[in-house]
Amino acid sequence: MNRKVIIIGSGPAGLTAALYSARANLNPLVLEGNQPGGQLTITTDVENYPGFPKGIMGPELMDLFREQATRFGAECHFKHVTKVDLSKRPFKVWVGDEEYAGETIVVATGASAQMLGLESEAELMGYGVSACATCDGFFYRDKKVLVVGGGDSAIEEATYLTKFASEVIIVHRREEFRASKIMAERALAHPKIKVAWNSVIDEILGTKEKGVHGVKMKDTQNGNIREESCDGVFMAIGHKPNTELFIDILNSDQAGYLVTNNGTTATNIEGVFACGDVQDHVYRQAVTAAGSGCMAAIDAERFLESQNT
Ligand code: NAP
Repeated sequence: MNRKVIIIGSGPAGLTAALYSARANLNPLVLEGNQPGGQLTITTDVENYPGFPKGIMGPELMDLFREQATRFGAECHFKHVTKVDLSKRPFKVWVGDEEYAGETIVVATGASAQMLGLESEAELMGYGVSACATCDGFFYRDKKVLVVGGGDSAIEEATYLTKFASEVIIVHRREEFRASKIMAERALAHPKIKVAWNSVIDEILGTKEKGVHGVKMKDTQNGNIREESCDGVFMAIGHKPNTELFIDILNSDQAGYLVTNNGTTATNIEGVFACGDVQDHVYRQAVTAAGSGCMAAIDAERFLESQNT
């Protein structure tokens, strides 16, 4: 059966696209991916999503998104797309051996955490190295941890970790945060948080058996290396778009984000639309992702109308 709309991804963008296309009677199929609900499912309090003046937990918010979309007929599956063929319509999408066909595709695959690229970081991932304080913070009760980065994520992760850790050091490569002033000031005033300015991590010290016991840190101004003891290292240095499925198929910019036509969600392939963080390196907010998901659903609906399908 040809679907009118197949949505790949299930963060705020994908599930809003699902809601709008379901309400347009297009019975969208949502292939949710490896992280159903997207990045908000690994955060705690979301305080800036309009309509929730007291804040809401990220996973709960995404459950509500899904509930609202399915109420109008969206079909959501916890399945991860492994291959696409966008060379002609109907477009083909595979989950392993299962094949789906769609008249339009909405790409809402989001973005994932960046890593430093150190050998020791890869080796100790899950053994003292983490990219998600909300997932792993609990394991660092009364321990000392480092958070790498200087943006809002680093500040947020560091602040969250103070609930468990005895000491949190933010390691930032410059002497000024990129993070918003209000969040940075709150973190700097916290008695458990210190900052290692002008510092980068050169190596993470530890073993899989015993976990992390420290890092080698380089001063970015004079190149001096020093050791800092710690029990865990949390990476918070930004994200990269999840575009592996679309390389050499959909146009992307230098950083790998999908390119959409000005003011729309249209990609370089007619009938394929992109929304949310996979095409937005500027705003990257749940509310902007949801807004662009709405745009993608409307763009898909208008495209289908123009094709009389
Ligand atoms: P970001 O704003 O891109 O910040 C990444 C940080 O990591 C920067 O400080 C950067 O340093 C540093 N960095 C990058 N690569 C590095 C490397 N290889 N080694 C060492 N440091 C490195 O990313 P983000 O903090 O994840 O935030 C992404 C977006 O989400 C932002 O728009 C942010 O406002 C938003 N956000 C909002 C909230 C909230 O409002 N609650 C929470 C989280 C995120 P430089 O500064 O030197 O470039």
